Amino acid sequence: MHFSSIMVIRCGDDNYSPNCSLAKCFQDILSREMATIHFLPGGGFGASLEFLKSECRKLWQGRIEKAKVLGIKKVLLIDHMPCGAYEIEFGKITQEEEKELHLENIEAARQFFKENSGLEFIAYLQIGEDKYEKIC
Ligand SMILES: [Zn+2]
Repeated sequence: MHFSSIMVIRCGDDNYSPNCSLAKCFQDILSREMATIHFLPGGGFGASLEFLKSECRKLWQGRIEKAKVLGIKKVLLIDHMPCGAYEIEFGKITQEEEKELHLENIEAARQFFKENSGLEFIAYLQIGEDKYEKIC
């Protein structure tokens, strides 16, 4: 067993607060990835959505530098659905459409970290309150 410091990126949804609906799944993912210490920068809504926006990408460059100073080698991105931030960004969408968009945006984030960070990239999609899928 090897525990590691991981930079975690997730939606700023209030339901991630302790004992709220998204918290248990989130904790399961952290323990599955053996993340005991995590650095959770930003408070963006929609997690992967940040990587579509150039102003956010700039912010992330600074966060990546900080993470490296802290000895962080991995980044764990967690999207969830249904995510209100996706509906705000893309309008009324079906569950299938939302899933497609998450997968596309997670891929954009993966590319961003590959090109700009040298950090290992892991991503999950939480579906509802008690299901999740490892995407990469
Ligand atoms: Zn959300």
